[in-house]
Amino acid sequence: MTCSACPRRNGCSPVTAQDTTNASPLAPEWLSVPKDLNALQEPLWAKTVERNDDGGLAVGGVSVAALKEQFGTPLFVLDEADFRARARAFKDSFDAAFADICGGVDVYYAGKSFLCTAVVKWVEEEGLRLDTASGGELAVAARAGIAGERVALHGNNKSDAEVTRALDMKLGRIVVDSLDELVRVGALAEARGEQAKVMLRLTPGVHAHTHEFIATAHEDQKFGLSMAGDTTGQAGLSAAEEAVAAAAAHPGIELLGLHCHIGSQIFEPDGFALAAEKLLRFLAAMQEKYSITMPELDLGGGYGIAYTPVDTPRPAAEIAAAMADVVRSTSAELGIDSPRISIEPGRAIVGSTTFTLYEVGTLKTVRVDAPAVSGGRDADNNVTYPRRYVSVDGGMSDNARPVLYDADYSAVLASRTSSAAGQLSRVVGKHCESGDIVVRDVYLPGDVAAGDLLAVPGTGAYCWALSSNYNYLARPGVVAVRDGSARLIVRGETEEDLLNRDMGA
Ligand SMILES: *Cc1c(COP(=O)(O)O)cnc(C)c1O
Repeated sequence: MTCSACPRRNGCSPVTAQDTTNASPLAPEWLSVPKDLNALQEPLWAKTVERNDDGGLAVGGVSVAALKEQFGTPLFVLDEADFRARARAFKDSFDAAFADICGGVDVYYAGKSFLCTAVVKWVEEEGLRLDTASGGELAVAARAGIAGERVALHGNNKSDAEVTRALDMKLGRIVVDSLDELVRVGALAEARGEQAKVMLRLTPGVHAHTHEFIATAHEDQKFGLSMAGDTTGQAGLSAAEEAVAAAAAHPGIELLGLHCHIGSQIFEPDGFALAAEKLLRFLAAMQEKYSITMPELDLGGGYGIAYTPVDTPRPAAEIAAAMADVVRSTSAELGIDSPRISIEPGRAIVGSTTFTLYEVGTLKTVRVDAPAVSGGRDADNNVTYPRRYVSVDGGMSDNARPVLYDADYSAVLASRTSSAAGQLSRVVGKHCESGDIVVRDVYLPGDVAAGDLLAVPGTGAYCWALSSNYNYLARPGVVAVRDGSARLIVRGETEEDLLNRDMGA
């Protein structure tokens, strides 16, 4: 039996699958021809996604055909059980790794990755907390009814109204980003006869990229208080130290501790570990110098996920263990009790829970000169290769990441299986921009046709959140599927929504 005859995910060995697809010279080096175009490659998909007996994709026991029928396309389809499992996995594995160090870890879900009231409820029910970064995100938190003490507020330019809202909601922490802001937050709290609970966001000079991190002494970015010496004009004092001293002395501030966030879509734990060590050393030095105790240390988010089959994210437990080792040994070396550790994963919880369901429309194939890797020989010889453009009914308005970050994605034919040979394809949207690409390079069955459904996995984070109404497209809804039932957690926009704010001629 071959995989193309077997529609079930994991139902047969992918090694026996079709092999009629030839690698295209136009494909990027990392993209190999899948053994089976119908297979759902790990670890791109949410846990309950599988192929039904009829070959169509299903999630949480609900087929994509039924989802399309009920909700239309494009549609964000979120596997609720998978979301809960990933949230729980972060909480449990970090709790376990840090149990002997600081009694466990507080996990703040980074709401900016994808936020609505249903998600806030799940986060709470799974024992997590919530990170926000604006008054609007605080409004969602308030609507969901989460206790303020479980919510944090970030941002490099919080308005007085946002700080006041944070104080009204009695937030567990305001993460202060600058000296200016420290003074403002302190004054606003003091005027109310209160103390704001404050973490200081520091820039430890560690920048993590997908496969490596770089360490620099100075920081050239908008976020955070630099730890580099003499950044405030006071000889020898870094901005970070000046903020610690000012916070410790301010009657309107309760200084809880320090925070850093070194980047996003990071796979290797080394960068997190180095940042943890730097912050711990600084924390210990500040505690001693200013005779204070900072009971908390937040190491941010940024844990990577798979967008294509070549991405290899680490299990939460592995990252937790590496970070715990450093916190344990550094605290011991410094002779301090480790502060309570917290982290802020966003993408790694929600990213892989969701796929976007699109309907295929227009198709065309262009012929392209071989790229320069062939030394231009093929181009000289007028040898060209086909690239198929597969247009879908959404695009950069529901997934801005390819345009914004050159992000790669993957896709499968979702409404059926196919035994047709693969063709190098480019999935594009319907917007008036040639850069409107959803999946730059993917092998799709050659018989993909108008009316077929495509599923693009890994769209849970920073897709709906970054969506727009470009070309007056209505933003898609988000449907949560669980145990055989599907419910909208954010409805899609209607034409009425689009016209609502137009005040008339
Ligand atoms: C964006 C952000 C996060 C979450 O990042 P992910 O890559 O989604 O994990 C956490 N903390 C801060 C301060 C952020 O800005």
